[in-house]
Amino acid sequence: MLLNRSARYFPALCLLFLSISVANGQKAPIEITADLSDAPRKLFHADMDFPVGAGPLTLISPEWIPGHHMPSGPASAITGVVFTADGKTLEWRRDDVNLYQFHLTVPVGVTRLHAHVDSIVTRRVSQRLAALEWEALMLYPAHVPVRDIPIQPSVKVPAGWGIGTTLKPISEGSYPVPAAGSVTKFAATNVEQLEDSPILTGLYFHEYPLAPTIKPQHFLDVAADAPDDANLRPAVLAEVANLVREADALYGSHHYNEYHFLLTLSDVAGGMGLEHGQSSDNGVGEKGFADDVHQLPESDLLSHEFTHSWNGKYRRPVGLYQPDFATPMQGALLWVYEGMTQFLGDVLAARSGLKNGDEYKDGLAMVAAELDYTRGREWRPTEDTAVAASILRGGNPTWENWRRGQDYYYEGELLWLDADTLIRKMTGNKKSLDDFEKIFLGKGGNTGPLIATYTFDEMVQDLNQVVPYDWAKFLHDRVDKINPRADVAGLEQGGYKLVYKDRPSKSERMMMAAEGRRGGGVNCWYSIGMRLGPDGTIADVLWNGPADKAGLAPGEKIMAVNDKVYSGDALREAIREAKDPSKPIRVIVQADSFVSTTRIDYHDGERYPALERVDGTPAYLDDIIKPLTTPEKAPDEKKEDAE
Ligand SMILES: [Zn+2]
Repeated sequence: MLLNRSARYFPALCLLFLSISVANGQKAPIEITADLSDAPRKLFHADMDFPVGAGPLTLISPEWIPGHHMPSGPASAITGVVFTADGKTLEWRRDDVNLYQFHLTVPVGVTRLHAHVDSIVTRRVSQRLAALEWEALMLYPAHVPVRDIPIQPSVKVPAGWGIGTTLKPISEGSYPVPAAGSVTKFAATNVEQLEDSPILTGLYFHEYPLAPTIKPQHFLDVAADAPDDANLRPAVLAEVANLVREADALYGSHHYNEYHFLLTLSDVAGGMGLEHGQSSDNGVGEKGFADDVHQLPESDLLSHEFTHSWNGKYRRPVGLYQPDFATPMQGALLWVYEGMTQFLGDVLAARSGLKNGDEYKDGLAMVAAELDYTRGREWRPTEDTAVAASILRGGNPTWENWRRGQDYYYEGELLWLDADTLIRKMTGNKKSLDDFEKIFLGKGGNTGPLIATYTFDEMVQDLNQVVPYDWAKFLHDRVDKINPRADVAGLEQGGYKLVYKDRPSKSERMMMAAEGRRGGGVNCWYSIGMRLGPDGTIADVLWNGPADKAGLAPGEKIMAVNDKVYSGDALREAIREAKDPSKPIRVIVQADSFVSTTRIDYHDGERYPALERVDGTPAYLDDIIKPLTTPEKAPDEKKEDAE
């Protein structure tokens, strides 16, 4: 409602409007107290008090969750809902169509309604930590813009557990580790902002201030299942501090009053990366940052979610903003929201030292090869993966090569790399996508938390401010059209080309080693066209590749290869031996309850993607990942580039 077309260009005005609506709201705030004492038993509780008048009242819980890009509100997990007023229980009825709504009638004379809610939690909790996203517990009046509903939150956590959040504590007492049994009260905000302000709590909890010279303040709040894991390596702390400085230099603006990276290290609480305007909810395995091998797959997590504070939270495609968490989101521009964030998060990770230059380039090679071998691009444009995001997320992974997945992430990375190197090429490396980011993500200068929506046309205008070009055609050609091959122009303009080698890059070997803990398998995608789990179960088959032509399918299990019981090594050996054209790859396959033998006709040996420098061309790819600030390195651990 506040963000109409003209508001896009005057976000500072919106901020003013927003502050007024909170400060001078007609109603007293809803009061909500989240009780996380039962988190180890996978239960959250909440008590809420609503200022009400007599008559019909509809309360609702969030359905379309920002950042999820799908209707994933946890209404089905809400239980034990009891409404009371003046000591009497009130009847309620769920709406017959919108199952997130509770209808009540408030009796005459009642001015305050109480609600109790329990929520059964399945993720982001362990015996030692919990992350609360408020949609798990929050009810609020339906049919009102959520930014116009004032709410005052409080939280109770298990004894001795610390609290990390961007919410401002206002109660007396110790913080961030409150006294046992106490309730920590936070400053009033509105429902939109509360939904955007998760709480991390844990027994093994550390709050690390980052880059103190950069204002506003940044914190890394860590909760782990084991005490040692919460003590992050000095190298990691230095790299995350670099990230704060690099983002400050790249974006030249900020849209938060204070920023908190919330990070769990737990094999139980699960992986997570969810953006918020003033914080991010990040989850890695308990050893996720313990060494360089485990760090590599997680190296762009914090930089990606941090970037979303600018791209996705502050600047949001108009179709992805809904004033009430009930209106369906439209994902058509997710190749900007997520795709550009994928590009920027990766670049910032490299500029900060969270990954080194070779790891960045090896990663790009893997991305480019993966997309170039995605056969679904023969029928489905990238834009459709964005439009259909909410049905692609979490879907059946089999035959994904033909169906396509959420390709707007990595397609976006290659697309914005193409745009960056093109700008560098057209301007003799005097300008880059960095200049676009300052314009596009910095409109209105520094603001507090705020959503300023944009359209495709505005983005094109901003690109034209950097360097005049037919950017609309550039984007339409790459996003809306059928493109049977991936966009590798950015690699080539950057001075590199995609090649295939007979052994995996160092980064790919590290990724496989890191995955080994989670039961990694074998990747024969660019040779026989199959990915397999550790027991030989086929995860996916390359459409029209050698394994597909041999009649193999995802879900089937390779039991034996060339007379040997299946192992990843046996399969790779068979692929190498089959370079001799007289030697086929023979496999025994279990499909459901049947077993059969088949031959895979393939003789080119193992193939793994890599980038190769094209001599005599400008190496813009190396320029893109040069730090903009003086990096901080921990004295004891210096990351060295791979050979
Ligand atoms: Zn994202």
